[in-house]
Amino acid sequence: MSFSSVLPEDEDFFRVPSYGDDTGGLRRRTYTTSVVRTSISRLAKQTPPVDDTVFAVKDDENFSLFAKGRDYEPAYVTHEYTQQEKDTLNAYESCDYLPSHSHIFKHWIKRQMISDLEIDRWIMMGLIGFSIGVVSFFLHQLIERIDHLKWRITKDLLDKEQLVEGWAYCSGYSMLFSIFSAFIVVFWRPSAGGSGMPEVTGFLNGTRVRGIFSVRTLIAKFLSCVTAIGCGMPIGPEGPMIHMGAIIGAGLSQLSGHLNKVKLTFFERFRNPEDKRNFITAGVAAGVSAAFGAPVGGLLFCMEEVSTFWSKTLAWQIFFCCIIATSTSDIFNSAFERFEFIGMFGEFRTSRYILFNVDEAVDINILMFIPSVVIGAIGGVLGSLFTIINLKIHRYRKRLLASITSTWLVRIIRLLEPALIMLIMSTFSVFLPMAFSCVPFTCMKGESGILSEYCVNDTLNKYDSHFVEENIFHTCGVGTYYLDNTTFVYNGTYNELSLLIFSSKDEAMKTLYLRNSHRMFNYGPLFATLAIYFIMVCWSAGTSVAAGILVPMLMIGALYGRILGLVLVDIFGVHLDEDYLSWMDPGAFALIGSASFFGGVARLAPAITVIMMELTNDLKVLLPVMTAVMVAKWVGNLFTHPYFHALLELKCIPFLDQHPHVQIDETNVKLDLFSAEDIMAFPVLSFDIVEHVPKIAKVLLDYQHNGFPVIRRNKEGRRVCYGLVTRSDLLVILSHKNVMTDGPVEPMDENTVDLVSIGFDEMVKTKKDSEEITVKFLLQFVAEDSEYKNYYVDLTPYVNQSAMTIQTKFSLQRAYTLISALGLRHLIVVNHNNEVRGMITRKDLMGHHMVEVLSPILQRKPY
Ligand code: ATP
Repeated sequence: MSFSSVLPEDEDFFRVPSYGDDTGGLRRRTYTTSVVRTSISRLAKQTPPVDDTVFAVKDDENFSLFAKGRDYEPAYVTHEYTQQEKDTLNAYESCDYLPSHSHIFKHWIKRQMISDLEIDRWIMMGLIGFSIGVVSFFLHQLIERIDHLKWRITKDLLDKEQLVEGWAYCSGYSMLFSIFSAFIVVFWRPSAGGSGMPEVTGFLNGTRVRGIFSVRTLIAKFLSCVTAIGCGMPIGPEGPMIHMGAIIGAGLSQLSGHLNKVKLTFFERFRNPEDKRNFITAGVAAGVSAAFGAPVGGLLFCMEEVSTFWSKTLAWQIFFCCIIATSTSDIFNSAFERFEFIGMFGEFRTSRYILFNVDEAVDINILMFIPSVVIGAIGGVLGSLFTIINLKIHRYRKRLLASITSTWLVRIIRLLEPALIMLIMSTFSVFLPMAFSCVPFTCMKGESGILSEYCVNDTLNKYDSHFVEENIFHTCGVGTYYLDNTTFVYNGTYNELSLLIFSSKDEAMKTLYLRNSHRMFNYGPLFATLAIYFIMVCWSAGTSVAAGILVPMLMIGALYGRILGLVLVDIFGVHLDEDYLSWMDPGAFALIGSASFFGGVARLAPAITVIMMELTNDLKVLLPVMTAVMVAKWVGNLFTHPYFHALLELKCIPFLDQHPHVQIDETNVKLDLFSAEDIMAFPVLSFDIVEHVPKIAKVLLDYQHNGFPVIRRNKEGRRVCYGLVTRSDLLVILSHKNVMTDGPVEPMDENTVDLVSIGFDEMVKTKKDSEEITVKFLLQFVAEDSEYKNYYVDLTPYVNQSAMTIQTKFSLQRAYTLISALGLRHLIVVNHNNEVRGMITRKDLMGHHMVEVLSPILQRKPY
């Protein structure tokens, strides 16, 4: 191949005499010294540089190096990504969501029977919803069982005053399960670690993340999540449920490959990237719905946070999927408690299917908006602090592990980290309550033996009766019963801290949300639990277990919400029932606090509000909750990114936001002032419509680009853009000798294209194989073997004729919108004669890349 052919004649290039020299002239890009250095060293080894920023041109036997610009120093690179992070980012590939609109695709689509009702799609949505509901049922039951066993035996031992044995059991049990949980992730399936949300969000945005949708990941995630949460780690199952939902969505709809050997022709038409994306989106929404028992919240969460591509039709289908998922898990949960059949199959009792059901909601008053705004602001500040600390711990952990050379040592540290967390948590749970004294309370039991409506403590606030169902509290001993006329009266004491940290998180949350329980918790236990939780959740999220942080976030918010409620009660006194100040209820503020912290961390608004309502059944506080969430979002935005977006950056997963944020020198850059030619890569490697086979193989070997424009002569004889062919399509073509001809031929007539050559299904299917190492071998063989020396291939049937092209002066802002809204991978830039001038990929529009490229332009030509 002649390398000089890759430089278009009408572009300016500058010879690089030697490293570091100024080549003069102005072009559109800056080059880092490392790019130039690498290219020169490649040149020295007589291999063509693969980077598109510096080019080798071969003239007879001599190479010359040409660059497209002159600024070799990375003076303008302002983004925080390190070179290593950029390499990780570049290692991810984008997805081709839209199938190639080629002749073979049109032929394939003609054969597909698609009815208007799309019954098969609804069936598939129902199947996904049902499966997720079943998984969620097993998840909750198992977590409850493991959790119950831990606290019951620990409590028994402590009640017998066997303190050390109780502590040893509690810690040993928790550590054992946490080690098992981490073991699965560290030694078997690393892709099952964490919540999986950044990876799924990245995929739905257009980045292919390998290995996240396999059955093994699903099993590993399930086991790791169940054991970690069951043993009491300060984490929640919602994130993992999102990932598991996505795997189920992908697995059921694709039903092929390694997932299982079943090939159902019925669902065949869903086996394409676009439908896969839609079913994964449905799985995500159904996962949240089933985890929280919040079908509408799940849908909104998916729309606001995880999904990038959304439509009305899809919303309806996902809505259906969420109904099925939630009702399936509710129906099973109604009949079983810790896998024991309790005989209430199908009875949706509020206490069983509404996670933190609030019985006695209080009436609100306009004055309530003032503390709600304050809670919102606290949520914003604490939410940002949480994000910052969590990221710092993540980075520190990453650096520490990277500095250790022994892989085994790294694995052992990752295995023991959750165990250490559990040791600390168990020690706190058992010993810390001893630092707090027990508070007296009285409960009344009616004749029927059923607990009366309320219990009271010495300050005469009512508590919900479930509070005393298990009426011995850690550190407080047994109370006394006596009969008062027809009523049994129980006098006992309880420990506030043990109520919060010596029980499951769900129980603690329910207690925090209790209404008319103004002084049930005092400042000491609330602050102590807040501090422990805040630090431990920050630490736990990011360890090697499958974990989410949604429920712990609610807990943190509920704690400071209650503290603020208590402050109000201390200032204004206790107001019960119909009183106009009855809204001053710490339980109500706990709920608002939860929403505000969730809002401060995740920066979602409608989703959080709806989830909170569905979780607690307390519609009366809707407006204060909305206010707090909104304020938390605004305040949080002043300090940091939303947490989940920050995780995407941390994991270096390429993500295109709906709106570009390009900041240079702390000023937002208006992309409309730039055009496509400012960012495009050029010159472009392209292929002729009838191309020499060894040349294709050589280009694929030497360059890693994933798309190549295809050139055809028009009537005036100009070489114009005909479409685009992808790398994976070319790999399939190269493995089919029967489509090649011996010697060049005339391109096929548009109307009589030979379609029997390679089927569209084969193109899609073989893409997986194309990722194998054998590809390199195939390419080398085709490039060098004398058999192919004279072979040509006519690309007409395989070219994507709907590849987007834009003109050189096309607005950069709109190019961004096109790529992000349509889920495109490539944009071809052409001049007014439709001749290819440049190439823009999805990754070229990443914020840090645009900063790098646009900074020098701004320097020279400030707008
Ligand atoms: P992805 O891997 O997700 O497709 P990418 O940007 O890494 O994204 P590549 O095709 O490897 O994809 O492109 C790397 C760089 O080369 C980008 O700047 C892109 O604009 C440019 N490029 C892509 N295709 C060509 C081509 N055919 N000729 C020249 N440059 C290209």
